[in-house]
Formats: sequence, structure tokens, C-alpha cells
Amino acid sequence: MPYTGTINKYAKYLSVAENTPVISIQEGQTPLVPAPHIASACGVDGLKVYFKIEGLNPTGSFKDRGMTMAVSKAVEKGATRIICASTGNTSASAAAFAARARGLGYDMDCYVIIPAGYVALGKLSQAMIYGAKVIQIEGNFDAALNIVKELCDQYPIELVNSLNPYRIEGQKTSAYEICDELGDAPDYLCIPVGNAGNITAYWAGFSDYQGASKKPKMYGFQAAGAAPIVDGAPVEKPETVGTAIRIGNPASWKQAEAARDQSGGLIDKVTDDEMLAAYRMIHQDEGYACEPASAASVAGLIKSAQAGKIEPGSTVVCVLTGNGLKDPKVAMEQSDMASAEKVYQADSFEIAQALGLKAAPVQQ
Ligand SMILES: *Cc1c(COP(=O)(O)O)cnc(C)c1O
Repeated sequence: MPYTGTINKYAKYLSVAENTPVISIQEGQTPLVPAPHIASACGVDGLKVYFKIEGLNPTGSFKDRGMTMAVSKAVEKGATRIICASTGNTSASAAAFAARARGLGYDMDCYVIIPAGYVALGKLSQAMIYGAKVIQIEGNFDAALNIVKELCDQYPIELVNSLNPYRIEGQKTSAYEICDELGDAPDYLCIPVGNAGNITAYWAGFSDYQGASKKPKMYGFQAAGAAPIVDGAPVEKPETVGTAIRIGNPASWKQAEAARDQSGGLIDKVTDDEMLAAYRMIHQDEGYACEPASAASVAGLIKSAQAGKIEPGSTVVCVLTGNGLKDPKVAMEQSDMASAEKVYQADSFEIAQALGLKAAPVQQ
């Protein structure tokens, strides 16, 4: 059978009926790949590490898994407008699913409220070309979310942030895919934490999956400059290079703590330097890509392993939440800019010198 998206694949776990209109852009079915270099960098005997490459969803992040549910259910109840606050990926996804709904003949407008200056260009351009109405505000994500909540109280608009329970429900499907593919749940699930919807969703998914012998310990990681759950208080001015987790007052705070406690896991923080070191390692030593915030999962795994918090012989899945092409500015900054900026004459001798090439000894 051809693949038709996460709702059709996992309908038995989701609040959908025969007559629910399925708005899908073929989200899900993302690769689960071994990460041998990261496994050895952890220095734990017999460790198996996998990346779940969520950046290979159609709009380049896991948000598509939640959005297919949120928008399908919005259409089912007759809504014609959706709105979200976003650090970028939610808006890209909402805009794409609204477009898909329109393509299937439904009226659907998408409004997006974003913090000015803090949305990576790749993400902003997506929301725009998919046809959303984009409003930038002075203020951070938390302020944008407050505005969205007020608008939804006053006007007939569907909120599609992760406060929408269908978003979290849809995002469970990644846990199902991981269990299907490994034949069981992993021992640890390492994941970045921003608004904390995704860690909540994975825990719910591992909890209701039928056929696994165990559930993973949930290891969530916030950025040190935006670590309200770790520090125990909302952060007024969150700051981090991982803009997707630059959130000071997570909507699913309590649920994330419950996932941590029920699974025997932890929520810790990683510095931007640790995140960027992991970000370079994922690209340069594994050949996979992600955006900076996604690397918090790998930075957190390495930190936890070094602190003796990963058991030998275990299986770990790190969720790479967003696509590497979303934030080319950080990618350039983390690379050898000096060599890329100089322009050479089209002369093979000069270029051989620039590359440090030496002629091979002549074969007799
Ligand atoms: C949304 C997002 C996160 C944070 O997920 P939450 O559910 O808000 O905790 C992390 N990484 C990327 C790439 C995201 O788009």
C-alpha cells in the first residue's frame, strides 16, 4: 500500500473517525539512522546511538506530525482560520497544511505571529511562500503566544500551537515509528525541550504503543540561556543560538516534568557552546544535518554519558527535530568562513596551492 501520512498509518492511536477529513502532506516515516561517532564520543561500552531525522518531514521539522492532526480536526469542525505563535517551524508547518487544505477545497487562512528578528530566514520564507499572513511583533515567543491566546478567546480562530491537544497527539507518531523500526522501545530518548510539547508527546506515544517490552527514560535538554524547567522559574529574557528552543515559559511545563518523573529520566541544560560542538559533530563526523536547537539532544546525551547517567549496552535515540537548511547563518558561522570568502583565479596551479595539494611521486 502506498504511504499516505501519519494519520492513516496510526489511526488506531489517534482521535480520528472514518469521516475525519485527512489533511496530509505525507509527513512522518522519517529515517532512523545509526550515529557511530557520537556513540564512541560518549565513551560508554556497547552503546548504540540512533538519530531520528525529523528534519526530513515535508516542511523540515517534526511540527508536521502535530499539524496534520490539528488542521484535520480544525477542518472537521468547520474552522476556516488557524493561528499560531512561532519561533519559525510551527508557522512553516501551519502555513503548509493550510495550503494543503485549500488544495483539497476547504476555506482555510493561516495567521502567524512571530518574534521580530529571531526567526531563521529559512523558516520565515516558508511561512510566506505557503501563503500565511505573517505578523512580526516586538517581544519574544512567550509574548507572541499570549497574543494568540487572547485572539482565540475573542475571535473565531483555531489555535494550532501545542496547547492544541491534537498537536501533541499527532506528535506521538514518531515514538510509534521508532518502536516499529527497532522492534522495541529504546532505553533512552534524548530530545530538545522548548515549549515542551514534543517531550510530552513522545512520552504519551511510548506509553500507549502496543508491543514494546519497556519504555525509555526521557532525557530532555533545554538551552542554558532558556532553561526554566531546569532552573525552576520562568526566564524573562531567554537567549540561545537554538532559536527553536528560545522559550522562557513552556506551555507543557508540568507535562514535561511528569514525563521525566514517570520515566525515571531527567531534564538538564546544555550551553550554546556544547550545542554548537554537537551541531558540528553531527554534520562533520556523521554526515547528517539538523538545525542548532536540534543538537541539544546530542549535546545532552554526551553530557549525560560523561556524568555516568547512561548505562553501558543501552540503546539511545536522539531526536534531530529540524532540518539543517533552516538556519544557514549559523551553519556559515560554525564553518571555515575565511577560506570560503576568498575568490581565486581560475588557475589550477594557484588552486592546487590553496588546497595544499602535492604532486604524487612519479610511477616507474
Ligand atoms: C519546536 C521545536 C523544538 C521544541 O519543541 P517543543 O515541543 O516546543 O519542546 C525543538 N527543535 C525544533 C527544530 C523545533 O522546531
